[in-house]
Amino acid sequence: MIISTDRRKRPNEFRLDQQPLQEGACPFCEGNESFTPRELLAYRRGTPANGPGWDLRVVPNKFPALQVEGNLDRQGEGIFDRMNGIGAHEVIIETPEHLQTLATLPVVATERVLWAFRERILDLKQDRRFRSILIFKNHGLAAGASLDHPHSILIALPVVPRQVRDEVDGARQHFELKERCVFCDIIRQEQDTRTRVVSENSDFLVVAPYAPRFAFETWLLPKRHGARFEDAGRHEYESLARMIKETMQRMNRALLSPPFNMIIHSAPFQDGLADIYHWHMEIFPKLTKVAGFEWATGFYINPTSPEEAAQVLRDAPI
Ligand SMILES: [Zn+2]
Ligand SMILES: [Zn+2]
Ligand SMILES: [Zn+2]
Repeated sequence: MIISTDRRKRPNEFRLDQQPLQEGACPFCEGNESFTPRELLAYRRGTPANGPGWDLRVVPNKFPALQVEGNLDRQGEGIFDRMNGIGAHEVIIETPEHLQTLATLPVVATERVLWAFRERILDLKQDRRFRSILIFKNHGLAAGASLDHPHSILIALPVVPRQVRDEVDGARQHFELKERCVFCDIIRQEQDTRTRVVSENSDFLVVAPYAPRFAFETWLLPKRHGARFEDAGRHEYESLARMIKETMQRMNRALLSPPFNMIIHSAPFQDGLADIYHWHMEIFPKLTKVAGFEWATGFYINPTSPEEAAQVLRDAPI
């Protein structure tokens, strides 16, 4: 008699729908690994997979609440409608510690998160069906986060979401006109005038963009031109981790620890973008309710000028 073990689910594949977590318990906390799907990637201290003893875990997103979170992300705008059933949806559990935030995590831990993003992108890129990967973070209920535990979401798509496509098209137009990268131009200009610069280190410039869509919208721009996040250098991830921590500390001080969305914009997987596009990170603190017509028309009312926003963040103690 042949028994196909393949067909039997492993014990922890049942867990999600089998025994619900106790109320108040968190599936992302250390010790609760059996409540998540099996890990795709983990940074461990020599411990066996799917148990305690880790610094970071990446698991497939099988959490109904987080699926909604992925759908609701303002950058995602209904992307699942166009996915045609192909796609990867993963959760990066950034730390075993439930109460940490990007403002409090040690820089080395945030750097680890950026490395995990890179590793997952390089892995998923091998699947030629994917055209782009979105990585974002929702922090706080008002920003759409459904779990407090520090986590990011990665979505690999067979399409390029409109937000990214529009930005790439804009960058292409600028390049065709001036034969220069628009983001490199922005970096030079902002370094020159400085009125919209929040802070800077050797690798990154943090600015309030010239035409923000939201109050206190903040961009973290790598000074070295590169179209893709995954092609950045080791020192750039370390620098970015520092700037993320610093920027979040500034926002927490100046804006009283606001809920926020954070997104990485990186070139879609197509040729011809190497000179045109320039990867970066955008942070949107959630300070005002976006009215229905703004969603519908794409026209945003922004009550704070970027110069004011930069000044407030620049002056915030870190
Ligand atoms: Zn937790
Ligand atoms: Zn550039
Ligand atoms: Zn962008």
